[in-house]
Amino acid sequence: MKNFNPADNIQDLQYFGEFGGVNPSISDSSTYTFLSAKTMFDTFEGNMEGCYLYSRHSSPSNLYLDKALAAMEGTETANVSASGMGAITPTLLQLCGSGDHIVSSRTIYGGTYAFLKNFTPRLGIKTTFVDITKLELVEAAITAETKVLYCETVSNPLLEVADIEGLSKIAKRHNLKLVVDNTFSPLSVSPAKLGADIVIHSLTKYINGSSDTVGGVTCASQEFIDSLKNVNSGASMLLGPTMDSLRSASVMKNLRTLHIRMKQHSHNAMYLAERFEKDGIKTVYPGLKSHPSHEIYKSMINPEYGFGGMMTLDVGTLLKANALMELMQAKNLGYLAVSLGFYKTLFSAPGTSTSSEIPMEEQIEMGLTDGLIRFSIGLDNDIERTYQSMKACIIELNLLK
Ligand code: PLP
Repeated sequence: MKNFNPADNIQDLQYFGEFGGVNPSISDSSTYTFLSAKTMFDTFEGNMEGCYLYSRHSSPSNLYLDKALAAMEGTETANVSASGMGAITPTLLQLCGSGDHIVSSRTIYGGTYAFLKNFTPRLGIKTTFVDITKLELVEAAITAETKVLYCETVSNPLLEVADIEGLSKIAKRHNLKLVVDNTFSPLSVSPAKLGADIVIHSLTKYINGSSDTVGGVTCASQEFIDSLKNVNSGASMLLGPTMDSLRSASVMKNLRTLHIRMKQHSHNAMYLAERFEKDGIKTVYPGLKSHPSHEIYKSMINPEYGFGGMMTLDVGTLLKANALMELMQAKNLGYLAVSLGFYKTLFSAPGTSTSSEIPMEEQIEMGLTDGLIRFSIGLDNDIERTYQSMKACIIELNLLK
């Protein structure tokens, strides 16, 4: 783990374009020619490494991005997809069939929650949702039918932290696959190095970082990725959530600055979290000593990338949260928008937006209060200036006790 640096691994890759360009050429084709019919047959059977058949299966541009993201996560290989959900859903459907069972963290992205709660039961796949920070509850939920343990490294939106090493031990003991969504903590945490079998990202967020596209990736063993892309039985191949080559080339260029961006996101979020906590506002940030999983997170991270850019403030009621968000947007401190990882701060009230798929009584049970604002802290150059302006909004609305 100590010698593993995800950003250096990306840096060490060397690609050239067709004419010696410093960026790889974009493969602008959906289908590929063969010099012999026999090679086409062999490629169809999956036996011709380096040959391309049809771009829903793979394309040179997508393979470049696959390779860079696999290097980042330290897995054998990867498979990019058209969205984060386009990575999550085929991965889980490849691992589970009718009669199988999943144990999942109860605090996960609302879309993933809805998929597990409402959609997969139609296919005979059941899920038990647990408090992922309580390893004894996780283990107690496992049945003879369980195939997958599912969690987010840092959960959306409550910023709970999964003890990936602890979960991996449980997964190994029960012969389960540990699937980790690492969207909130790229570079900071390397789940595969901590024992995760499969690491997923929504590329839409930090990795692309410019809020101009959706995208996803599954990072895993060659064997698993081959199974996902199998022409006869692979969920990615058959459901078709393929990323377009033009998009993968563009995500790849943004990936090159991820390390610089993550350091700044983390620096800014830490700065604000420390000050707002001192001001007496209920602040949740994994970098704060008051965070219940601070020590575990500290032991998991690649320290130079920090504790990430996600922070929550609880201002008491939805009315107050809405007023603060509208005022902050009016003062150009950020945008009232879902998603994360943009250069500008984004904020939303998760109970009524990204987690609205979760029924109210379950939101209450998991501690998702309606005064909670989720912040994706931006790349602001002068974060003290931002702090002063945000605090002025808080004072103007009388939100300080
Ligand atoms: N995982 C997490 C943690 C997310 O926050 C999101 C989206 O908000 C997703 C997955 C889904 O990604 P996408 O919107 O790219 O499908």
